[in-house]
Amino acid sequence: MKISSERLKKYEGMKRDFSEEEYINLQPIQRGGVLTEEARRALIEFGDGYSVCDWCPPKTARLDMIDDPPIHQFYADLAEFLGMDLARIVTRCREAKFIAFKMLGKAGDYAIIDSTAHYSSYISAELADLRVKEVPNTGAPEYRIDPELYASKIEEVKKETGRLPAALLLTHVDYLYGNLNDAKAVGKIAEEYKVPFILNCAYSAGIMPIDGKEVGADVITSSGHKSWAACAPTGILALRNSLGEKVLAKPKIEGDLTKRKFVSKELGLLGCTVAGAPLVTLMASFPEVVRRVERWGEELEKIRFLVKEMERIEGVRQIGMRPKMHTLTHLETDPFFKASETHKRKGYFLYDELRARKIVGIQPGLTKHFKLNTYGLTWDQVKYVKDAFLEIASKYGMKVN
Ligand SMILES: *Cc1c(COP(=O)(O)O)cnc(C)c1O
Repeated sequence: MKISSERLKKYEGMKRDFSEEEYINLQPIQRGGVLTEEARRALIEFGDGYSVCDWCPPKTARLDMIDDPPIHQFYADLAEFLGMDLARIVTRCREAKFIAFKMLGKAGDYAIIDSTAHYSSYISAELADLRVKEVPNTGAPEYRIDPELYASKIEEVKKETGRLPAALLLTHVDYLYGNLNDAKAVGKIAEEYKVPFILNCAYSAGIMPIDGKEVGADVITSSGHKSWAACAPTGILALRNSLGEKVLAKPKIEGDLTKRKFVSKELGLLGCTVAGAPLVTLMASFPEVVRRVERWGEELEKIRFLVKEMERIEGVRQIGMRPKMHTLTHLETDPFFKASETHKRKGYFLYDELRARKIVGIQPGLTKHFKLNTYGLTWDQVKYVKDAFLEIASKYGMKVN
């Protein structure tokens, strides 16, 4: 079928509305994925299709065996950086979770997951033919996960099925409240029961220090486009050696006519994964990522400062655990909701006011509560954001203490 040139015009000269140069973007999912200069250059250099495959070794013919660019070394460095033994790059964090669930479980098995898990944890489990059992959280205002409850959920599964669950999954930092969960405590329970422990580090690894060994993680999953200054799609799957054979099992299938076999590939990864530019951006940003996790303490100072200043507006309150241990933050903002009720733009007034000040990323229309993330903003930018909110609050007659 022919597509009219009129319609094809849409694709010409596409531009992004909210460039990092022009706007301060507080959108939680976008702060950790801003590219480094090195990654931006690598993106152009390796933009063509299967660009990393120039030097694929003919014998092993696998992405992680390529030495130029240094993918083979990168996988080893990445595993070491996370305190794990093995690492693979996949397309997204959710794919890493799916592969882990699929390779660790049998159809009908349970995965125990925290009740603040991302929707993709549930869907990954479903696609892997697993059922889920949720570990409850404490509800408002903390929404904390008590790690001890993993043990009672394991007992529940044992009673119900006569078997252990296929895996425990803990969201290291959840996407709703930015709570930092106690991975080490869950790791201990996993160890006691000999159940594989998947630590989902979509929002943590790549921006804050993680030591998989120290917390007893058997699998670490993460998201390159969320937290590693890389393009989408990139995901990280890191493992202990003890799970290597199971999770990275080789395909056994054989062509019935040709007898062809593919024994050098990895089944769960469908052979090769990210064979081009996104992987190279992840690698190009890696040296900076290794350095930046050491500056995590200062990132916490910035968000704690902003929370303290925002709470000067009477009726504004940070929810989730206190003090903030992560830059993703959920605020209850009732006075902004009250202001929206009489405004002709309704809830969109806040978006308009912020946008006029070159601040974006608060979901348009939301005023009752919203999330923001200050990761990677300079002190000047954080102070500018603070001033903007306090100014808007005063403009609409809110009480600022
Ligand atoms: C963002 C997020 C994901 C999804 O990451 P993808 O790389 O897009 O699959 C998974 N889990 C959590 C906790 C997240 O916050």
